[in-house]
Amino acid sequence: MSAITNVPERITKTIAGTAEEQQFLQELIAAGLLLPSGEPGVYGRGMVFEDVRNRFDELVTRTGLPDQPERPRFPPILPRRTLEKAGYLKSFPHLCGAVFSFAGNEREAMSLVECASNGADWSGFLSMTDVVLVPAACYPAYPAMALRGPLPKGGVTLDLGGSYVFRNEPSGDPARLQMFHQREMVRIGAEEDVLAWRDVWMKRATGIFQQVCLDATLDVASDPFFGRGGKLLAKNQLAQGLKFEVLVPIASPGPTAVSSFNYHQEHFGTAFGITQHDGSVAQSACLGFGLERITLALFRKHGLNPSSWPTEVRTVLWSA
Ligand code: ZN
Repeated sequence: MSAITNVPERITKTIAGTAEEQQFLQELIAAGLLLPSGEPGVYGRGMVFEDVRNRFDELVTRTGLPDQPERPRFPPILPRRTLEKAGYLKSFPHLCGAVFSFAGNEREAMSLVECASNGADWSGFLSMTDVVLVPAACYPAYPAMALRGPLPKGGVTLDLGGSYVFRNEPSGDPARLQMFHQREMVRIGAEEDVLAWRDVWMKRATGIFQQVCLDATLDVASDPFFGRGGKLLAKNQLAQGLKFEVLVPIASPGPTAVSSFNYHQEHFGTAFGITQHDGSVAQSACLGFGLERITLALFRKHGLNPSSWPTEVRTVLWSA
């Protein structure tokens, strides 16, 4: 551990993860793959890390080409109203990130600066803005699709790229980041089309993980809903098979979810008023690849230097 000299003190102090997670994190930092910020779960990414992440991202793009998706892009913030309408606060208030800013006068600004420089709590000087950090990359897509009017026959398929999303869960586990790239695809339309698309992608994803030689398992899953009511929601989600996850080993005691396949039924169609060509409420499904987690899983499995990875993995990621 003597090689790790420039990890900010705070990160080594506040790190809470298993010994194995901590060790993996320190190896990643020592290799220049992750650049610590001083805040758990907030890292810069070195060039080699980014190269692998982008190569995997391109593999997902190639796999989705037969769908001929639209490729809109959205910033990593969205109107607060969208988060409220989507019902996020009911299910995940503990994970949300709202943007606050200062709207006072000069005197109050001076007090704010003084307060902050004394290390005191300066949140009382701020007020809520109309934007929040995007918690799931598909959220901005629903109001945008609703605004276009009824969907064409056959619905729409969207490839949203790898957008940054925020989750308020600081952790010493390098696989649990506060901000990470979620590579999302969305299908909106009739029930049978949406479900068939999700099935196809579960098979495709299994194939992708096989190609890069990760030990992936697909399983039915539930979201980390908040509170007592959340337990019921999670049970219901499991029973109805609304969510599936691909799990791979990283550094945690159990395997880590790296990809999810979510059937929303009419949830977003109703919340945002998305209708099909015949006027009925549209259904939707989305899938997400957690790009940093997958990149970490690749480093964990194949070693910290991609030039010595197995030829079959290198061929799949670097040949196209
Ligand atoms: Zn989604």
